[in-house]
Amino acid sequence: MELVYSNDQLLMVNHVKNLLETANIESQIKNEFMGGGAGDLAPLDTWPELWIEEKDLEHAKQVIAQMNDNSEIVWYCAKCDEENPSTFDVCWQCETAK
Ligand SMILES: [Zn+2]
Repeated sequence: MELVYSNDQLLMVNHVKNLLETANIESQIKNEFMGGGAGDLAPLDTWPELWIEEKDLEHAKQVIAQMNDNSEIVWYCAKCDEENPSTFDVCWQCETAK
């Protein structure tokens, strides 16, 4: 397995997982349930990670690069400045409408 993506927001990791699924790339999220009670661990250690088969690595990188090129994929909340996926109509953090 290869680590292909990591983000402190699980929803972004899920978003990438969905993108990869659309491209027929199987992926697996690790650290999915670590975020809440991180305790003394450094935050980076608890970021959800997206892992894929090594054979899919190049393809997956292309999919993720395209995602990063596409400004439509996220929007920023006017109130709290948080990043939201384009599929969300309200801010995940403060529930302000898009
Ligand atoms: Zn917000």
